[in-house]
Amino acid sequence: MLLKIDLHVHTCYSYDSNISLKSLLMEARRKGLDGVAVTDHDTVDGALKACKIASEMGMKHQLIVIPGIEVSTKRGHILGLNVTEPIPMGLGVEETINRIHEAGGIAIAAHPQSYFFKDGIGLSPKILSFGLDGVEVMNSALFPFKPLVQACKNFAEKHNLPQTAGSDSHVVEAIGLAYTLIDAEEKSVDSIIRSIKKGLTTPLGTGMPLTLRIKKLFRSRNTV
Ligand SMILES: [Zn+2]
Ligand SMILES: [Zn+2]
Repeated sequence: MLLKIDLHVHTCYSYDSNISLKSLLMEARRKGLDGVAVTDHDTVDGALKACKIASEMGMKHQLIVIPGIEVSTKRGHILGLNVTEPIPMGLGVEETINRIHEAGGIAIAAHPQSYFFKDGIGLSPKILSFGLDGVEVMNSALFPFKPLVQACKNFAEKHNLPQTAGSDSHVVEAIGLAYTLIDAEEKSVDSIIRSIKKGLTTPLGTGMPLTLRIKKLFRSRNTV
């Protein structure tokens, strides 16, 4: 089955987002998503709570919540998906990826090419040795959007790395602007993670409109 999942969303558990857990879940449903990965900066607290609220709200069969984290490494941001324990910030990229794997998750290079914010790990071939499971080729916060997405796609294709997409929402309106179409056997976190690892993914979506970028700037100064 094909599932539409926004694989990069922040909540009020990130210092630079005001999205409440309940409004995240409601908005994701309203936008027609099959799931979201909650990836707050350096914490899994919001993700764990979102999983709990989704099951309390009886959303289990409608909306899959993938617990995750966006780890601030020495060199840039790494998304850990299917991670339910905190991964320390400030470690090297390779060690962070190892920690994510030890925690049972997969590691995706978040917005590897974000020139303005300098918090991607870059697209140099040396990142290939780090054991990444995929590259977030489409991130709605990237600017200029199209050329950066294309550069990330070219890199992932050349090196045969799975491609993901996420909105990187810090405000509720941005949820679902970009999402990953995932060909999964069933609507479950494990099945979705397996399909991402196999590269059964299609990144889709758009960049953030200017109005939302400005709104987001008021919430965050140096991060995406
Ligand atoms: Zn982010
Ligand atoms: Zn980031």
